[in-house]
Formats: sequence, structure tokens, C-alpha cells
Amino acid sequence: MLTNLAVRDIETLVHPYTNLATHRETGPLVLESGKGIHVYDTTGKEYIEGMAGLWCTSLGYSNEELIETAAAQLRKLPFTHIFTGRSHDPAIELAEKLKEIAPVPISKVFYGTSGSDANDTQVKIVWYLNNALGRPRKKKIISRLKGYHGVTVATASLTGLPNNHIDFDLPLPGILHTSCPHHYRFAEAGESEQDFSARLAAELEEMILREGPDTVAAFIAEPVMGAGGAITPPEGYFEKINAVLAKYDILFISDEVITGFGRTGKMFGTQTYGMAADSISLAKQITSAYFPLSAVMMNERIYDVLVDQSRKIGVFGHGNTYAGHPVGCAIAVKTLEIYEREKIVDHVARVAPTFLRRLNRLAEHPLVGEARGVGLIGGIELVSDKRTKAAFEAKKGVGPRAVSFALDEGLITRAMGDRLAFCPPLVITEAEIEEMFDRCERALDKTLNWARAEGLMA
Ligand code: PLP
Repeated sequence: MLTNLAVRDIETLVHPYTNLATHRETGPLVLESGKGIHVYDTTGKEYIEGMAGLWCTSLGYSNEELIETAAAQLRKLPFTHIFTGRSHDPAIELAEKLKEIAPVPISKVFYGTSGSDANDTQVKIVWYLNNALGRPRKKKIISRLKGYHGVTVATASLTGLPNNHIDFDLPLPGILHTSCPHHYRFAEAGESEQDFSARLAAELEEMILREGPDTVAAFIAEPVMGAGGAITPPEGYFEKINAVLAKYDILFISDEVITGFGRTGKMFGTQTYGMAADSISLAKQITSAYFPLSAVMMNERIYDVLVDQSRKIGVFGHGNTYAGHPVGCAIAVKTLEIYEREKIVDHVARVAPTFLRRLNRLAEHPLVGEARGVGLIGGIELVSDKRTKAAFEAKKGVGPRAVSFALDEGLITRAMGDRLAFCPPLVITEAEIEEMFDRCERALDKTLNWARAEGLMA
């Protein structure tokens, strides 16, 4: 029986990333409040937010300092833009702080409001830069199958997931996708992680040579693939990718929209995996999701070209109204201050062994083919036969069914096909991690019973 609120939702909203047809029958899960790592629906039922919203609410749901900071900034100066050389203290302070903690030498910071627009800016800068350098053919950008970089025309093109392309007339020409670094699914029988990484780096090099190195401008990658299924890279992967990119003068864009600010157990995933990034996209945990804010951090080489272009053209003709919004910047400054004061990276490193022990234990479950993670992010893959790694038919909806059983148990997780992701708020304690996986195990048991009853297990 749908509530009044659910009916109003169905009659008014187009939901992102939702089956709009079945939504008309099932209706929404309406959340009302949050505290710590928990959120509560309109019936008062409590859930552990095992996905930190959408990989973003790092400090949990009731951080009074962030709330106070937002209110204070709203009272003082609720808005000023940073077009035409205007500025404000929080924007400057945040950029200084980001430069200080950046994992690679960073010269300047450009603000946006979402991960998508940060990556869209990256694409535009790559094109702009190569025109400025007199290499108008060097424009192609390589991303990876199952990579996720956003939903704008350019960033949905970078995204390597079919549902972001089908019937949207994407990807755009000049955006290419190389192999997905998922060892469990795509390694050949007996192939070690190092050998798999070497093969993928060789495939990338072949693609560059096939296209012509003078036509390939940039490569973009998430340190850990998020929406592709919470996939951590195989051993040696980025080291080998770095070498290929350096050989052909190809810019490396690190998409840290999910992994930035402690998620992988270091401040940035770029550090965890030794990525030789020229520029970095940030969003989500930059404000603990208390305000939409994103940033592109760029090195001196890129910045110098932008300055030269302004000498030539007269302006850097890019930016949006809410770029560097004072409330967002003030919240981000406070968020970074809390990360530092509370030693959030040390906290993640301290609780990660419990998270990874419980995550890895899920691999013993009859439904789970793979369990793998790093820091406080990880994924499991549900399979019908662990021995052969046989997948379920997608239309049986096993992943979504597991998510629904998890909700019954008071756990929010997310299915990407039959992969389930775990990415709790960074402030989660060891006891809460144990509780999260207890709930998950009960949900998997229910899913297994259901799958057996449906005759889905091999
Ligand atoms: N890049 C990565 C790695 C992401 O995970 C996301 C969103 O989840 C994006 C970009 C897009 O960010 P947004 O949804 O804020 O546009």
C-alpha cells in the first residue's frame, strides 16, 4: 500500500538512475532524517548508510560543526560569484588547503558544483590546451570500460557503462574505452595480477599506436572504480599505465570524486596507487556532501597554458554561476579542518582491517564469487556458481533483490548489476562495521534462500 507521500512522488518526480516504469508500482523509499552513520525513513525505521549516500557523506549525518558553518556563512555572505576576478575568503582558503594536501604538485584550483562538471571541465581543458599548444589533432581521450565519470554529454561519453550511452547517441566521437581492470572477471585462467596489469597496459599502448599518439591527448581513471562495481585495481596496474602515458605525452586525469579525502586509507587514491596525475577531479567528500561542490586541481604546466590563452583570447571563457559558492567553500574548509583534527585518514587506516576482514569473509558465502576492497570501500560479486564464476541472468535481478533484503535488515547498500558495494561514512566505528556486515550476511542468506527457491543456483 503506497503512502500519500509515495503517490505524490510518483506523480511528480523523474528519478535519476531509476527504472521509471517499475517505480510507478513500487514507489520511493522516503528518508526523513539522519544521525551519525544512520538514516531513518518516514516510518522511523533505522538503516546503516552502507553507501554513505552516494559515496559522499564521510562525516555522517548530524555534524553540528558543518551545520553551524553553513548557517554562519549564509548569514555573512550567502552568495558571491568568482567570475571577472571577484573572490572571497573561503574560496581562497579552500584552494590553499587543497594545494597543501594534494598528492601531486598542484598549481591552481578551478571550482564547480558536481563531479560531472569537474570532469567536463577536464575534457574542455584538454582540448583547449592542445589547441593552444598548436596540436589540434591531439584531442582523443581514453577512459575505461566500466569507468564512471558523470552524466554530461562529454562525461557520460567517458563513462564506460552501456546504460549511459544507449539511445543517448553517446559516446561522442574521439572518446575511446580501453579494457576494464577487473582481475576476477577479465583475467585469463592462471593469469597473475601483475601479468593481467601488463596485458592491460599493452592493450592501452596498442590502442594509442592504432589511433596515432599525436591524436591521443589524455587518459582518465578512477583510482577505485565506483559505479562500475567498486572494483579495486590489480597489482602493478597504475605503475604500468603511468609508463605508457609518459611515453606518448598523454595527460593523466585522476578522477578522485569518490576516492578523495581518506576513502582508500590515504588522503587520495592517487597516493594509494601511485598514479602520476597531471590533474585531479574532486567532489563529494570535499564537503562531506553537506553542499554540492567540486574542484579540478591542475599542475603548473596546464595552468601556464591557460594564462597564455587569456593573453591571446582575452578571457578564460568557462565557469558556472555557483562555482566557488561561498557556503560550499566554507563547509569544505571546515570539513578539511575536521579531517585533519580528527585524523580521519588514520582512523580509516585503523578500522579498515575490520572492514576488509568482514568484507573478505563474505567470499565464504555460497552466493559470493569475489569480495575485495581497500580502505573503507569494497565490492562483492554474486554468482550462481562460485567454481565457474557463472553469473546470474541480469533480468533475474539478483543484485537488486539482495539490496531489498538488506533494506529489510536495516542496511543500505547498492547493486550495480550483481555487484554490491560498501562505502560507509568514514567516521564508522569497528563495532558499527561488525553490525553492518552482520546485517549484510543475514540479507545474503535470505537472497540465497530466494535464489534457490527460484532455481537460480547452479
Ligand atoms: N566521477 C566519479 C568517479 C563518480 O563516482 C561520480 C558520481 O558518482 C562522478 C564522477 C559524477 O559526479 P556527480 O554525480 O556529482 O556529477
